[in-house]
Amino acid sequence: MAEKSFKSELACETIAATHGVASDTAFGAVVPPLYLSSTFTFEAFDQPRTYDYGRSGNPGRDMLAEALAKLEGGAGAVVTSSGMAALDLLLGLLGPDDLVLAPHDCYGGTYRLLMARAGRRQFRVAFVDQSDGPALATALADEPSLVLVETPSNPLMRVVDIAAISALAKAAGALVAVDNTFLSPALQRPLLLGADYVFHSTTKYLNGHSDVIGGAIIATHPARVNVLRRWSNVVGTIGAPFDAWLTLRGLRTLFPRVERQQQNAMAIAEHLERHTAVLRVHYPGLSSHPGHEVAHRQQRGFGAMLSFELAGGVPAVQRFLANVRMFTLAESLGGVESLVSHPATMTHADMGEEARRVAGIDNGLLRLSVGLENQDDLIAGLERGLAAC
Ligand code: PLP
Repeated sequence: MAEKSFKSELACETIAATHGVASDTAFGAVVPPLYLSSTFTFEAFDQPRTYDYGRSGNPGRDMLAEALAKLEGGAGAVVTSSGMAALDLLLGLLGPDDLVLAPHDCYGGTYRLLMARAGRRQFRVAFVDQSDGPALATALADEPSLVLVETPSNPLMRVVDIAAISALAKAAGALVAVDNTFLSPALQRPLLLGADYVFHSTTKYLNGHSDVIGGAIIATHPARVNVLRRWSNVVGTIGAPFDAWLTLRGLRTLFPRVERQQQNAMAIAEHLERHTAVLRVHYPGLSSHPGHEVAHRQQRGFGAMLSFELAGGVPAVQRFLANVRMFTLAESLGGVESLVSHPATMTHADMGEEARRVAGIDNGLLRLSVGLENQDDLIAGLERGLAAC
């Protein structure tokens, strides 16, 4: 797209739809080619080309990295084999004296990774409710090196103020990394709010079609990007070329997908909020949501993830899941198809009962990833489950 760029800065929708389009110099392919080769020829003795070996770099993977860095407003990105690998890449830069401050209600896999690494004394970890000002201040007084932020959080959709936490963390000498998986840069750009890193499970909205496991980490400072790039080559935490190609293809439609999905999510959240079988709905788009104001300020939309608690607890969950239509019982999120999951027995099972209780993840909680289906069909499918509760 380089020759066709006629403005110094293209809009994010344009970058998502066209980054790398028509850039093939060999045959003029409109769609960027897929280079599966694990190795690249040297021109001659001691004369490597741009690429020499697939662990160090791959044209398609780098193209995806460039697109993601632009969308997030960062200096560069590293594309990894999963979202967990993206976080682990960053954690690999820490030492035994470093302290990581994480949200108490983070994604279960993040909790598991942090506990596993800290258990091996690779760093120390502490968990805090980042929406609790005094608790956050106390935790920051312990001088963490890295503050992890996840907003909206998985699965309770708690929203925290990225700009405020980044300023506090910076004053305490910590770097900030935000998990932006739930919203994608289409709806939230944490680096512009003061974060130093943003990471993704590209498995979710960025790819959007539930056919790739992938991740990415983007940094504001070029020097930090270089450190991550070198480290990813050292440990081999890289995304596969075909996965990167599919993810770039998925990225083309990110903006319209998310736009439509969040319209569906809003309608569903309002429907659930009125329903007698439902105790509570967690969706930042509802004015009843405690993080509504912050979400309105720092997000471009409220997203398509929501969770709700059934009044009848686990028995109601079982009846709901046996009868619901349109929502497939499966982990993951962000695809074009709607999914339902039960965090206590699925995504957050490894957290253990006590950590879930502290985080507020009830056994009656269900999480929805709202897809692109017709809104009436989705609500009718949910109604079928709710009527059985
Ligand atoms: N972060 C969040 C918020 C997630 O929901 C997930 C996966 O569900 C991850 C990170 C991990 O991503 P991956 O499964 O690609 O490793």
